[in-house]
Amino acid sequence: MLVSNLFAKTRKQDPADEQLVNAKLLTRAGFLYKNMAGVYSYLPLGFLVLQNIRRVIREELGAIGAEEVYLNELQDKATWEASGRWDELKDIMYQFKDSRGKELGLATTHEEVVAKIAKEYINSYKDMPKGIFQIQDKFRNEPRARSGLLRGREFEMKDLYSFHSDNECLDRYYQMVAGAYRKIFTRLGIDAIYTTASGGSFSQEPSHEFQAITENGEDTIYYCVKCQIAKNKEIVGVDADEIEVLCDGCGGKLEPKRSIEVGNIFKLGTKFSKAQNLFFKDKDGKERLVIMASYGIGTGRAMATIAEINSDESGLVWNLETAPYKAYVINLTKEKLDIPENIEQKVLYDDGDISAGEKFADADLLGIPYRIVKSQKTGEKFEIKHRKSGKIELITWQEFAKKINV
Ligand code: ATP
Ligand code: MG
Repeated sequence: MLVSNLFAKTRKQDPADEQLVNAKLLTRAGFLYKNMAGVYSYLPLGFLVLQNIRRVIREELGAIGAEEVYLNELQDKATWEASGRWDELKDIMYQFKDSRGKELGLATTHEEVVAKIAKEYINSYKDMPKGIFQIQDKFRNEPRARSGLLRGREFEMKDLYSFHSDNECLDRYYQMVAGAYRKIFTRLGIDAIYTTASGGSFSQEPSHEFQAITENGEDTIYYCVKCQIAKNKEIVGVDADEIEVLCDGCGGKLEPKRSIEVGNIFKLGTKFSKAQNLFFKDKDGKERLVIMASYGIGTGRAMATIAEINSDESGLVWNLETAPYKAYVINLTKEKLDIPENIEQKVLYDDGDISAGEKFADADLLGIPYRIVKSQKTGEKFEIKHRKSGKIELITWQEFAKKINV
């Protein structure tokens, strides 16, 4: 791809109306456009990153047998009244009347919808476990939307819903999803700490969050580096600042850390199956309520988290899995540069007439994993610099193709 062909351009200055690193850098690099507080459009490079995040999630959830669905965003009041959440969520759910006076809402989440749909297809213990997921927008009237993609009012989430006949079935599935989440975050380059949190209003049992430690996080977790155990502030208690919180593993002191919740998994019990009359016949032919769980990952928040934790003073830093392009190619010679066909589509070639220094700065700002420079000095080979480690090598196109698996 030619840089001159890109729709968006890089900017020299940070946007004046953004406080957080993710929003500043993603805007300067031309990945993101702010429409209003908490509402962003993904520009082509940003959308490529988002699609990579979606792909990793799809691959790992597909590997555990979950199927993808595409659900409605427009919600009818009756479905949400059945669970009590039409009123409960009225501050955060966008609710309105259409021109016929019908009351509607925009989906804040989809438990009600999936429980209603599952009624058609889950009738017997033999129909479970089942898992369906969606990667779509949620709408929430968040009171504070000042953190770029970390907290949107319209934001994309992957949510998975599972259905079970008993608690053993649920526990097995829950662990399996936790395992898939670990793989997802590792591939995305996010060091996400498995954190015990409260079950909220849905369940007596704890839920679990995947928390990335960073100064700009809105959450606080209490963390033991040695045992890799963490508890969310809310289950530690309100006086956590004054008391010592101890590790269940080694008995040592847990350290409070600011963090971002990138994902969470929780058991819903029968709250939503009860509301939608989602029953199944057990082995003895007895009617029982389906047990549910739900599992979220904010895809936009994941992108913002990568920007928060992996960037440096020169700009963004993507890995090969998330990057919009694998390399940023700069030609300092007068001769035309022929890029092999299998590589051409995977790299950005800066054909602009700006200075070499400006091209280097753009390559860094965009966070492309490798910068490839052709100059008189490099002879037949190319100088390749790894964005993250700064390591420089001389390489051929063939060797590069191997590095990026093409
Ligand atoms: P938070 O406590 O940060 O508001 P939540 O508990 O409301 O999160 P869920 O409703 O469980 O989050 O959503 C699942 C996932 O969706 C979260 O782990 C997070 O990654 C993402 N998410 C939630 N709210 C937002 C938001 N406003 N903008 C972007 N991502 C979000
Ligand atoms: Mg929330």
